[in-house]
Amino acid sequence: MPPLLEVDRLQVHFPIHQTALGRSPGSVKAVDGVTVHVNEGEAVGLVGESGCGKTTLGRAVLRLVEPTDGQIRFAGEDITRLPPRELRSRRRQFQMIFQDPFSSLNPRMTIGESIGEALDIHHLSSDRESRRVRIGKLLESVGLRAEYADRFPHEFSGGQRQRVGIARALAVEPRLIVCDEPVSALDVSVQAQVINLLQDLQQQRQLALLFISHDLAVVEHLCARIAVMYLGRIVELGPARDLCRRPRHPYTQALLSAVPVVDPDSKRSRIILGGDVPSPIHPPSGCPFHPRCPVAEARCRTEAPPLRDLEPGQQVACHLA
Ligand code: SF4
Repeated sequence: MPPLLEVDRLQVHFPIHQTALGRSPGSVKAVDGVTVHVNEGEAVGLVGESGCGKTTLGRAVLRLVEPTDGQIRFAGEDITRLPPRELRSRRRQFQMIFQDPFSSLNPRMTIGESIGEALDIHHLSSDRESRRVRIGKLLESVGLRAEYADRFPHEFSGGQRQRVGIARALAVEPRLIVCDEPVSALDVSVQAQVINLLQDLQQQRQLALLFISHDLAVVEHLCARIAVMYLGRIVELGPARDLCRRPRHPYTQALLSAVPVVDPDSKRSRIILGGDVPSPIHPPSGCPFHPRCPVAEARCRTEAPPLRDLEPGQQVACHLA
């Protein structure tokens, strides 16, 4: 069976408008040739610092931003250039959960109306009573009470609002949900509850998740495989356990070293990366990570390492790995 989602050499470049002198400064290469897949019922994590292109990639696979090049296949169908009308009929199968649930909920609608709107768009409720029952069940499935349907978003805490966002995404019974930093705006105490909820729902409903986060610890807990992104490219990809136990790419090693460890005897030392992520308008020559890499060699400045297979399902883009 082909993967549910296949992303093949995807590029998303945003052109920069011409300067007063008529020169075009080029384009922002937000996603620069990414190949990744998500199987039916599988959770795949996408990690990297902010500005690495992971949110743009998540939006591009749902066609919320238009790809510049490459291909996106969903359930075997090429949806890269599907016209908007045809895309609308497929949208039910892939949904998104956003970082800020408050901004994605209409403050003038009760949460029952917000969830019901998703049902109506896809003609999933035949009459008022079945619609009401369905909304109540959806709220209960995310740990909220059915009678909350009559309340407005401002009456809920951040964690509850994110639960509403999840209920709304689930309303249309999608096969894939792209979760864009869904817990990073929440209190630490609430984050674990929402992560556990997503994990339960994923397993119960055999949902495929593309889980975007800057937090490797969260992704390791939830996902079977992890892709690490840097400057619009995937630099390491592999089973979550292997990648976290034995990271091969220096960037993954640095990300992991920042994850707090519970074991007081652990000898893991923190790798501090110098500087910020370079501009995606003028990425560095050779390996894009070389200006920050603690083990860079001379050839790293001129030769870009390809993403190559190490073991089955494991890939890395580094000359030294
Ligand atoms: Fe570092 Fe060179 Fe590997 Fe890039 S190719 S990650 S600069 S060692």
